[in-house]
Formats: sequence, C-alpha cells, structure tokens
Amino acid sequence: MGITFVMLKPDAVQRGLGYDIMQYFKKNGISIECFDVQIATEDKIRRHYEEVIAKYGEEFAQHMLDMFLNKTVVPIILSGGDDIIAQVRRIVGATEPAKAEKGTIRGDLGLGDSYARSVAEGRVVRNLIHASDSPEAVKREISIWLPKYKI
Ligand code: ADP
Repeated sequence: MGITFVMLKPDAVQRGLGYDIMQYFKKNGISIECFDVQIATEDKIRRHYEEVIAKYGEEFAQHMLDMFLNKTVVPIILSGGDDIIAQVRRIVGATEPAKAEKGTIRGDLGLGDSYARSVAEGRVVRNLIHASDSPEAVKREISIWLPKYKI
C-alpha cells in the first residue's frame, strides 16, 4: 500500500472538473484517503513551488500567484498500490497539456494549453492538477497543505 499527494488547481475547480478528474483515479483502483477545500495563501504557494520559483525566478512566482492566490484549491491524499506515486503521474500526463497523451487527465481535459501560449499570455500553463513526484515531495507537500494528516 502507498499514498501520494495531488491538488486540484484553480482552473480545474473553476471548470467544475473535480468529479471527472477523480474518475481517472477510481478506475485505476486508487481511492481518496483525505482531502480539503482551501483558499490558497501566498505562503503556501511559495513553499509549494519553491523549487520552480528558484529555477525560473520572481516573474514566474508572480505568474504562479496570479494563478493561485486567493483561489480555491483541493489538496488530496490518494491511496493505492506501492507504485502509486509514479502511477498517478502517468495518469495525470505531461506537464504541458499540448504534449500530454490522450487518455491522461491533462491530455483529455487540459484544452491543449502549451508553454508557448502561456508565455505569450504572461501566465503559467493551465494543467488542472498537481501530482507529487517522489516520497520526499509527498511528505513535504502534505506538511504544507494537510498538516494535520499524520503520515
Ligand atoms: P509538474 O507540475 O508536472 O510537476 P513542474 O514541477 O516542472 O511540473 O512545474 C510546476 C508547475 O509550473 C507546472 O505544473 C506548471 O503549472 C508550471 N510550469 C512549469 N514550467 C512551465 C513553463 N515552462 N511555462 C509555463 N508554466 C510552467
């Protein structure tokens, strides 16, 4: 048994895609362990995206804040098999929806958004959902968004 962390981003919440997205996990035998509905704060957004903000800089941080700040997000702990972290990343699909395969969440529901379009429009790419990429990230991200959950 294993757990992982995902979070519905504001674009998914605003488009009412929560139920549709959860079906991709359910049909793969993955279930919800715990979730919350929150308004994203600057502190949490900066902590969550520390690594990409360090890589791309403060302008990128501002675009992240434009996407997330004071918007509704849904942090979720998912449970399933031992390989759940990688399995969920495969189900979610590539970061850039234009490159995500059909059958993945971002490929099917991500409206084909691309890095090129997002850069031209001065924003981050809209890709509906975040998914942790390692056991350390799962721990770190749960401690930011669902700190009462004991791993
Ligand atoms: P992932 O979310 O698939 O783990 P990253 O951790 O690399 O991907 O990036 C975090 C988030 O930052 C992405 O989900 C996306 O919203 C945004 N992002 C990353 N790289 C770019 C880029 N080159 N252009 C626009 N947005 C980006």
